[in-house]
Amino acid sequence: MEKRELLYEGKAKKLYKTDDENLLIAEFKDDLTAFNALKKGKEEGKGALNAKISAKLFRLLEKEGIKTHLVDVLGDNLHLVKKVDIIPIEVVVRNIATGSLTRRLGIKDGTPLPFSLVEFYYKNDELQDPLINDEHALLLNLAESEAELEELKRLGREINVILKNYFAKKDLRLVDFKLEFGKDSEGNILLSDEISPDSCRFWDMKTNEKLDKDRFREGIGGIKVAYEEILRRISGDI
Ligand code: C5P
Repeated sequence: MEKRELLYEGKAKKLYKTDDENLLIAEFKDDLTAFNALKKGKEEGKGALNAKISAKLFRLLEKEGIKTHLVDVLGDNLHLVKKVDIIPIEVVVRNIATGSLTRRLGIKDGTPLPFSLVEFYYKNDELQDPLINDEHALLLNLAESEAELEELKRLGREINVILKNYFAKKDLRLVDFKLEFGKDSEGNILLSDEISPDSCRFWDMKTNEKLDKDRFREGIGGIKVAYEEILRRISGDI
């Protein structure tokens, strides 16, 4: 399958048409952005690492019965994916308080949450992806119904259980992560976009060292080494 015209370019990926109207090619970029693209950077090889990590996790989830857009891995940083209409809601699941949750609610950084918290954010760069509740989502027609929102929450929680247990075996704490879903031509909800250290927070179980994009956000550096470490820990067993 070959890349045809560029359909869309986002902050971390380019999407190309293919000669099959139901399939697209996603190219993972080396660019890094944070704080609504106010902070920008590039790390050579980052796109390929994320493509590999995300493919492994999507395949793991598929095996556990979660439907995803991933069809095939075509090259170092290329995924063949089903074409979907992205639901413009970022589904964030949190196990430990950090990041915007601690800033917003004053919870002490690193506090384990008594239950996994699912939040919705409106996927809108101009508005800087604001936190929304179910009624905002319905008001803005971001989802079809309350049942669809409940399904997104259910999928978020189910994916969290699978991934949290999986990463615990790799000595990694899955602190929080962001998911995106889309609908295929038949209306099925498919997990889309990516699951990678760009979209998740991973802390080493023993040292609490951050092995994710916070290294870039916080200017710690060593992004590539950290992402390679994630890939190393999850390699060879899915
Ligand atoms: O910044 P915040 O604490 O709200 O992020 C929660 C989780 O969602 C983090 O794992 C972060 O990497 C992810 N996220 C993301 N893309 C965004 C916002 C958050 O991947 N636009």
